[in-house]
Amino acid sequence: MKNILMAISGPSGVGKGTLVKALLQKRKDVTVSVSCTTREPRPGEREGKDYFFLTREEFLRRAEAGDFLEYDEHFGNFYGTPKSFVREALKEKSVILEIDVVGALNAKKAFPECVLVMILPPSAEELKKRLRGRNSETEAEIESRLARLDYELSQRDKYDYAVVNDSLEGALARLEEILDGEKNR
Ligand code: ADP
Ligand code: 5GP
Repeated sequence: MKNILMAISGPSGVGKGTLVKALLQKRKDVTVSVSCTTREPRPGEREGKDYFFLTREEFLRRAEAGDFLEYDEHFGNFYGTPKSFVREALKEKSVILEIDVVGALNAKKAFPECVLVMILPPSAEELKKRLRGRNSETEAEIESRLARLDYELSQRDKYDYAVVNDSLEGALARLEEILDGEKNR
């Protein structure tokens, strides 16, 4: 069985974080990549655990040097997947990138073996319910996240797999099935 790189994307609030956390708890042969960012740490965030926090100068120097598998700008800050982290982690385990659609497609360009998995909500209504239930965004932020839904869904054909996060147990089982199938290929 080989270690694989798997990018997990999907609309905000669909349950990516919840699913990845459950997968990591269950599987000792899987880890998650830690990205670099130029944004300020939020309270409680730890260097090397949530992100590697870099100055803009350092980030751009590393981008120029080709140190990122992919990188992008969101809300005025840069975010990127460090090649060195992924390369080292893959020696030990399969590696998950929890990353937006654009980032995942760029990762696949740079690393064609990367397996792309899109997590889908059972319905738009349920997605809204989850976003509101999470209580972490304002109503305006929820609307802007929902506005991206159609775009994200339109990219589905570029993905290797889609998993509907209906019941958490069912979605987790399907994700493990995909993981094991790809590890054994
Ligand atoms: P994402 O990381 O995709 O933005 P989260 O993992 O933060 O999404 O999940 C959004 C909300 O939906 C959270 O409150 C989470 O507890 C809830 N949630 C996740 N998966 C399910 C599920 N299968 N059924 C019901 N609620 C879920
Ligand atoms: P946040 O600042 O809320 O942690 O993340 C903001 C956005 O950056 C999210 O949409 C997240 O998916 C995206 N992001 C985080 N890490 C990376 C990365 O390594 N590459 C890309 N392209 N986007 C990332």
